[in-house]
Amino acid sequence: MKKNRVGGICLLIILFIFNLSCSFNNSNKKGMGAAKITTQHFGNFEGKPITEYTLTNASGMQVGIINYGGIITKIITQAKDSSWGDVVTGYDSLEGYTQKDNPYFGALIGRYANRLAKGKYTIDGIDYSAALNNNGHSLHGGLKGFDKVVWETAILAGDSSVQLNYLSKDGEEGYPGNLKVQVVYTLTANNAIKIEYTASTDKTTILNLTNHTYFNLTAGKSNTIYDHLVQINANKFTPVDASLIPTGELLEVKGTPMDFTSAKKVGQDINKVIGGYDHNWVLNKADGLQEVASVYEPVSARYLTLATTEPGLQFYTGNFLDGTLKGTKKDIVYNKHYALTLETQHFPDSPNQHGFPSTLLKPGETYHQTTVFTFSIK
Ligand code: BGC
Repeated sequence: MKKNRVGGICLLIILFIFNLSCSFNNSNKKGMGAAKITTQHFGNFEGKPITEYTLTNASGMQVGIINYGGIITKIITQAKDSSWGDVVTGYDSLEGYTQKDNPYFGALIGRYANRLAKGKYTIDGIDYSAALNNNGHSLHGGLKGFDKVVWETAILAGDSSVQLNYLSKDGEEGYPGNLKVQVVYTLTANNAIKIEYTASTDKTTILNLTNHTYFNLTAGKSNTIYDHLVQINANKFTPVDASLIPTGELLEVKGTPMDFTSAKKVGQDINKVIGGYDHNWVLNKADGLQEVASVYEPVSARYLTLATTEPGLQFYTGNFLDGTLKGTKKDIVYNKHYALTLETQHFPDSPNQHGFPSTLLKPGETYHQTTVFTFSIK
């Protein structure tokens, strides 16, 4: 009897110690993994306060996000020589982001990222017209897309994620249905920025969401991206007409300047493409989250990989940057080909191209997209 009691007490003590050690390990892991989030007033827009959330992880990488346009304002990463630098374009203040010709720096794009020919599309026999803003076409959601609205924000438990919510009302910019959109930005312990999008609607609509961050991995040390080495897992791309509307064909990249199946300097063939790259690549991938592209900058040795659940990638080389933007960070002149974008998306003009994957979202369905940008030094 006595022996049993002693045995029981010993067992309890062992269990207690085991439990203590487990919870110590867990809290330690949480402490290592979580980023720190600080907030800063960034101005006012339409009477609403705009806040910049700065996420900093344990290795010191930083990401800035504002609730105007869900814009990524900064990404500060380390180079091989241990210096830190901001690898995205942007402005010093909100006025920069709200200026008329801001080319969507860092912004969330919707409802329809990329172009809709003449803004027209048809759903269930009903013709719709999205707002026109680009040579008679609709680009990136129209006159006031998701990049120009104020998002509701919340810091999620764990301090590594900022959640943004926006309700796009029925008819906004020519799109049917009240659309609830949620985007969660997370900075992970392994220097990745994860962007998770979800959305639902109460009427059938079209939807194509992306983020429009412009990268120059030299962090201001070079004013072009010609020496960046880009690799895209895509055997095909969608050719476009002179106004950048897809012809509907899927062409092989092999033997053309569009071939990035092996890492290639952006500058190698850029002059063979009128204006530079501004095309959608058809990613070689199955459903689900998969690594699809990478960018390497040899001087800083910064290496960026891109994973996504989307079928397409708009690789754009800042062809329309012309040095005229005001209030840029450190007054940098953003000239043509200063930076590149990697816009994960469904193909441009899909609602009018029957061979392209569908962008319809129906009531009762949930739109999901995940895209991850991971930074390292190679
Ligand atoms: C488009 C370009 C456009 C740019 C706007 C890109 O996504 O493909 O044609 O000029 O966005 O900054």
